[in-house]
Amino acid sequence: MCGFIGIYGPDGVDVASEIYEGLLAVQHRGQDAAGITTFSKKFNVKKGFGLVVEVFNEENMARLRGHLGVGHVRYPTVGGNQEEDAQPFHHTFPVGVAMVHNGNVTNFHELTETRFRRGGVRLNSSCDLEIILWVFQKGLADALQQKPVLEPEDIFAAVKRVYEEVKGAYSVCAAITDVGMVAFRDPYGIKPICLGKKTTEEGEWFACASESVVLDVNGYTRVHDIGPGEAVFIDTRRRVHRKVIGEKLHRPCIFELVYFARPDSFLDDISVYKTRRRFGHRLGAQWKDVGAPRPDVVIPVPDSSRDAAMGVADQLGVPYREGLVKNRYVGRTFIMPNQKVRKSSIRRKLNPIELEFKGKDVLLIDDSIVRGNTSRSIVEMARRAGANKVYLGITSPPLIAPCPYGIDMASKKEFIATDRTPEEIAESLGADYVLYLDREEMNAAAREGNERIEEFCNACFTGRYPTEDVTLERLKAIEEERGCQRDNISV
Ligand code: AMP
Repeated sequence: MCGFIGIYGPDGVDVASEIYEGLLAVQHRGQDAAGITTFSKKFNVKKGFGLVVEVFNEENMARLRGHLGVGHVRYPTVGGNQEEDAQPFHHTFPVGVAMVHNGNVTNFHELTETRFRRGGVRLNSSCDLEIILWVFQKGLADALQQKPVLEPEDIFAAVKRVYEEVKGAYSVCAAITDVGMVAFRDPYGIKPICLGKKTTEEGEWFACASESVVLDVNGYTRVHDIGPGEAVFIDTRRRVHRKVIGEKLHRPCIFELVYFARPDSFLDDISVYKTRRRFGHRLGAQWKDVGAPRPDVVIPVPDSSRDAAMGVADQLGVPYREGLVKNRYVGRTFIMPNQKVRKSSIRRKLNPIELEFKGKDVLLIDDSIVRGNTSRSIVEMARRAGANKVYLGITSPPLIAPCPYGIDMASKKEFIATDRTPEEIAESLGADYVLYLDREEMNAAAREGNERIEEFCNACFTGRYPTEDVTLERLKAIEEERGCQRDNISV
């Protein structure tokens, strides 16, 4: 799950500083590497490992000239953990294209090991974006054999080629030198992407990003979310061309709303903040319906569960308290390469306020349980702080299936919920009671924000994948590759 931004500004301006601001706003989507590529007379590139503030400085930003550019923050999933895998990627033939994406190509191996290999194509990296870029460029090259200048239809035909050949879930933005900027979304619209616009005295600016918060921080108005299988192309006269090319059923990822996105973002017109409040209300109602024990206090696990915890507290008529303090300067523990590091850094990251726990029956609210390490540590922390009973309310159903679309949930074996009942999960976590939000309730709460979406991708909760390309073999290959990568990283 990565974050990206593309900006096409008026002639003569530099867009790098806006891209930088945008990347800071989506830093939560990936902290592994960051990069910006702009185009002036040539491509200007800066990328590296680490946070946005670590990669960029005054000196390298000054080199990133140009009114067209793309930027990226990386969250490592399959492949792509070396320096050469950091995005953006650019190729110069048949025209200059710099590209970024969020998502995962599920037929990466088939394409590289069979079709590409037989055709003599060799990639520079193990990042799946390079495949998308290659197929897109091939489409443009074929068009340029027929005519000297690329037109919108040629850009859309190249996107169609990508849809036909590259399977999985991806949203993409590309700067095409002397031609414009294009952005497109996978046929099921699993990955989010939106378009924004602003007008200044210099002229019209367009921005494309994986979350609307990127537009907010740069003063753009959100024009619309790009639809499933839709491409948007902005030409050199800043005319916007839209085309639905490969649309299937719209199945946006529900986990974006549960955990990933910032609460101040809108995804497919749905407010993330309001959805999390609704998750909380519904979880609170469910808590009462099933006759779960009444707590004295509701405490969120910061940060992504705060809005939901307020909803639970409202519904139960129980005080909401901030009982856990987060140290903001410790990286996201989940990103750490192996179990040992993850365990110790959770304790580093959170500290309890004892007086909110002492002698009380506390209901801790979190968005999800993956392996259970976070919950186990927090339950233990609550007990040490003097809690009488420790209950857990989770604002999503049990996670049981790996995500082949780019969320790092590798192997079935790693999920605590695999082959366990909620009672067994509670026992394993040391909690007195655990309640997960019902799946139908979760979906209904999300749909309240946009009734046009009939279903969300629920694959991580059900093991049913909306794209027809996810086979057992592919899942196994992804699982093995992620497992190997983890094992190879030393602590
Ligand atoms: P765990 O300790 O493995 O159960 O991690 C669960 C915590 O990590 C939850 O509190 C979530 O907020 C967070 N989380 C869930 N899914 C992911 C993910 N795919 N990447 C990063 N963090 C996650």
